Amino acid sequence: MKATSSHDLFNAIDDRGSGAISVADIEKTLAESGIALSDARLLALRSRLDSIGSSKIDAETFDGLVGSSGSLVSRTIRGELAIPDFERFGAQIRRIYDDVKSIDDGHVADYIPQLARVPPENFAVSISTIDGQQLHIGNSDAGFTLQSSCKPMLYASALEEHGEDKVHSHVGREPSGLSFNELTLNKEGLPHNPMINAGAIMTSSLVRRDLATADRLEYLHDLVSSLSGRQPARFNNAVWHSERETADRNFALAHHMRERGAFPPDTAIRQTLDYYFSACSIEVTAASMSIIGATLANSGVCPQTGERVFSEETVKNTLSMMYSCGMYDYSGEFAFSVGIPAKSAVSGVVLAIVPNVM
Ligand code: GLU
Repeated sequence: MKATSSHDLFNAIDDRGSGAISVADIEKTLAESGIALSDARLLALRSRLDSIGSSKIDAETFDGLVGSSGSLVSRTIRGELAIPDFERFGAQIRRIYDDVKSIDDGHVADYIPQLARVPPENFAVSISTIDGQQLHIGNSDAGFTLQSSCKPMLYASALEEHGEDKVHSHVGREPSGLSFNELTLNKEGLPHNPMINAGAIMTSSLVRRDLATADRLEYLHDLVSSLSGRQPARFNNAVWHSERETADRNFALAHHMRERGAFPPDTAIRQTLDYYFSACSIEVTAASMSIIGATLANSGVCPQTGERVFSEETVKNTLSMMYSCGMYDYSGEFAFSVGIPAKSAVSGVVLAIVPNVM
């Protein structure tokens, strides 16, 4: 649908030509493009619509409303958002969802007892665009822990704080071709990359070393919340304990790295591992995770809040790492057959990004 002036926009919503539209008509038009009235950017519009209630809106009143809500409503109605035909796109994604929903030959990760208890039938596809259009199908509000999808966030935080040279003096940037927790280091005695366990334990040691433990944890929560458009990020205490009690391999990796002198001086192994387990145990939903993805796709600016969370340079490096190493020993195959940056995790999430530059 193409519309140019606010009058055209009004006519586009008033497709019956009745000269009056309702709040529900506006809501429906926005929803068809994937924009919800609960969107943080529409706060002003929402409160004005609340005061209008069930009264009808004429073209003149609508003119004032659109003016107050900035360009988002206009761009939505004009079909200028990242996915112009969102209804068609949604139908395609629903078809894919229905096709794959019945696949049940996988199994939940069981090496951490709490993860073994996650209902395997939980399944959701959540998509957010760089313009904040959203599509959620299935159990998109069910909580799950970040697990390894925290690795890009830890890496990006370390980059922001220390820069590329320092970070990569402690962790490599080549795919390992090995499984996620393989007890091995590269020729320099460093973890192969920040997307496998050894590498994320290393980046955990680099993030906000200046802060006290409680403040470091708060920093992580705040980071996840900023990336997801200020959605609350819960902490799953049971998963944290469960993971910590069954973490022999991660302890072994950390000790191996310490033996090879890979960590920055004065790194406390136990605190570093606890921090990594904490990052793994932050709980999100498919819906909030999709906004995290959109923030990365949008070069580090959250589409919902406009907040810049990471610099463009940091996001570029993070997406490169996700592209080459994000899917563990399936990374090459995934890059070849799908071709976008992604990160898998044992909680079952795959965070996949179509960067704005592509
Ligand atoms: N918490 C997991 C571990 O370190 C993360 C692994 C994953 O999600 O792939 O074992």
